Amino acid sequence: MRPTMTYLDDGSIRTVETILASQNSRRPFVVYDETAYVSSGAQAALQSTFANRATTWFSQFELNPKLPDVEQGVELFRKSQSDVIVAIGGGTAIDIAKLIAALSQQTDPAAAIIRGERPLADFDIPLIAIPTTAGTGSEATHFAVVYIQNEKFSLAHPHILPQFTIVDSQLTRSLPRSITAATGLDAFCQAIESLWAVGSTDQSIAYASEALPLIVENLPIAVLAPTAKSRRGMSRAAHLAGKAINISRTTAPHAISYAITSRHGFPHGVAVAMTLSRMLKYNASVQAADCADPRGVSFVQRQIDRIVDLLASQTLEEASQKIDSFIAKLGCPTSLQAAGINTRPQIEAIVQQVNAERMSNNPRSSTSATLLDLLAGGVSAVTS
Ligand SMILES: [Zn+2]
Repeated sequence: MRPTMTYLDDGSIRTVETILASQNSRRPFVVYDETAYVSSGAQAALQSTFANRATTWFSQFELNPKLPDVEQGVELFRKSQSDVIVAIGGGTAIDIAKLIAALSQQTDPAAAIIRGERPLADFDIPLIAIPTTAGTGSEATHFAVVYIQNEKFSLAHPHILPQFTIVDSQLTRSLPRSITAATGLDAFCQAIESLWAVGSTDQSIAYASEALPLIVENLPIAVLAPTAKSRRGMSRAAHLAGKAINISRTTAPHAISYAITSRHGFPHGVAVAMTLSRMLKYNASVQAADCADPRGVSFVQRQIDRIVDLLASQTLEEASQKIDSFIAKLGCPTSLQAAGINTRPQIEAIVQQVNAERMSNNPRSSTSATLLDLLAGGVSAVTS
């Protein structure tokens, strides 16, 4: 991985000028979320920086990165002959910027590269990632989510990790309650999943262990009665959770969530949180026969104990209940059933679409049948 320059202080949005100057940038390409750009205060802070350069603007994309939107961005980027990409917005804007950086320097078709049929060749366009939400951690990862039709892919390359990252919590101060909750829940799930992930390392465990208590402390305040301190805490925590999953990757709740989002329209973080407490209990009952982590059952159980501990709980049951009441306090559903996804065919369709690669990173393996039982559990009376 290339070294990343990270700016975490309030007001660090103004370092964009310094970074562009250091890169001798005359032609920045700005990938931005229109609403967030204005409401975050980024526009006011960056007006002269961009006005003094031949800036190209790209905001023609839907929520959750989709290939046709990315391809449009790639075309505009190539035409503009820009020298730096600046991403300002939530996870979608940052992922789209990453994909434009990666795919604009390829000769093979984007779809073939994303599907893994053709390799992603090296590329080197400086990217400045500026999150206006506190949650996805996209600014800290070397992969980008993209949907082709309804199928979810993740494009990975060391250079997809943004070279410059500005985590300025002041940009999140005007975030609406629902977005604060949804994005914050993404960070919450990432921290917990990272702790039990097969791909975890001492380093990722350290990042996630720092992130989780920060989220527990600050997210309800940031959602219900936001203060500068809670916003700062969440920005820092979301960035740490991003650094954790950059190493460990995500697991079952994420693997299951993509179908919940694409089929039922729930925001990403809300969808991930729906299966979190159930997966905690499921993973806690890991046995030698279904343990996917080569470090063994006792290692996974120690990680589960660590999660219980970080949730300030004495028992697994208490931790699981805390997760559910935490999610409920933010006004979000704690299960598929609570979200109104309660017929067997609906849940079957979600299980069929589970992302296999993310699922293999879950510490306890599962078949479609066990997963269906787990997710449909408690609604056995509902059969159609
Ligand atoms: Zn996520």
